[in-house]
Amino acid sequence: MELLACGHAAYEGPFRICLHLAVEESDDDVIRVYTGRGLAYDLLCATCAALDDPGSQLAVVCEGCSERAEEQTATGVRGTPEVRRCDVPVGGAFHETPLALDPANGRCLAPLPDGWLVYTTNALTVVRTDAATDVRADTTTVVRTDANHGLTDVRADAATYELVLSDEEAPDSSVHGVYGPTVHASYDGRFAAVVTDHGQYGAVVDLAARGVVALRLDRGQGHNYTTPFPFTFAQDGTVIAATDWNRLDRFDAATGRLLTERDTSWAKGENYLDYFHGRLTVNRAGTWCVDDGWVWHPVGIPLMIDLAAWREGDRYAADRGRSLAQRDYAWNQPVAWVDDTTVAIQRIGDDDLAMVDGVQLYDAPTARRVGVFAGPKGEMWSVDGRLAVAADEGLEFWDPVDGIRTGLIPDYHPTAYNPHTRTFATLANGTLRTYRLP
Ligand SMILES: [Zn+2]
Ligand SMILES: [Zn+2]
Repeated sequence: MELLACGHAAYEGPFRICLHLAVEESDDDVIRVYTGRGLAYDLLCATCAALDDPGSQLAVVCEGCSERAEEQTATGVRGTPEVRRCDVPVGGAFHETPLALDPANGRCLAPLPDGWLVYTTNALTVVRTDAATDVRADTTTVVRTDANHGLTDVRADAATYELVLSDEEAPDSSVHGVYGPTVHASYDGRFAAVVTDHGQYGAVVDLAARGVVALRLDRGQGHNYTTPFPFTFAQDGTVIAATDWNRLDRFDAATGRLLTERDTSWAKGENYLDYFHGRLTVNRAGTWCVDDGWVWHPVGIPLMIDLAAWREGDRYAADRGRSLAQRDYAWNQPVAWVDDTTVAIQRIGDDDLAMVDGVQLYDAPTARRVGVFAGPKGEMWSVDGRLAVAADEGLEFWDPVDGIRTGLIPDYHPTAYNPHTRTFATLANGTLRTYRLP
């Protein structure tokens, strides 16, 4: 066996490195240099990566030396991985219908079985659309908010329900995301919620009861600016939401009754969770949920929570989510379920400074990574086993099995997808513009 560049007679490692990284005491930063072939990359120290011809520094080393170089988290990226595209026509059709509502932001349009839910800065409105044509049939305002962003029940025959969504100045939008309201709707369309992402408060309203506020939410102030409000509707008529920075609870959506009484205090030790909950994404069956939160120092750690176990009596199931990955400074990325056991999480890498656009796939029962491919970047939905991504170029469709882009609707950037009608939508400039899949 011949000596390799590192001086060892051993099997070749899976990637090339500069020889500075083969020195065990090296504390130089590590840079990943993608080769453009699949997701293959080489590793260079920061000094070599800055040279005009960094490739000249690369050498084939042994498995041990490449493994040791890989132990250091890469803090930078050069080059790009291979992005595979094989676009075919998507089919489908656009519809436009006038709608004089101005969503508070891109997160304030949500799907209902027979239309859409819109939250403007002063009202929550149900927009019913014709099932065949997507043309607006009627609109009903169910909840109004007051000037202080309180949410107020508008039923003339009921006491006024007032709800504070925000009692403080909106913070500057931070690196973590844009502060403001987000609308959620339950799959069956009975309940809606308005929560303040990167803020403290939220509310669940019963649309069947003309907007009765069923539940008020308050997750406290503990670094709440770092994550969207952890909230999701499950498929069994319950709500899962944060009630503290490190605690999730389930509630009956209709009555607001707490279903998960338990002790998670510091004094209890074993059930105390040192984790800042993040955006929740539940699968269609309501059996698994990804929590896109973080821990100090800070490290993004997407957790897989077993909702079925929680519902069936494992009181601390939500406090014992299984870690899918550890990513320094990286969380709040788009997440979508491909099917009931496979979830896609965007961005590839171990450090926010060294990520590339793409998707990592995880299997829920084992919490193992089962796939990865480069390309997708943008808000993401699951559509018939494919991933739809509102990307810079337009609405993209990706086959997650082969990791290939299979379709593009150029220059269309929807903010919502309606699985009932298989329709995407944007609402801006007084027009609801939908795209219905064939
Ligand atoms: Zn070097
Ligand atoms: Zn070696």
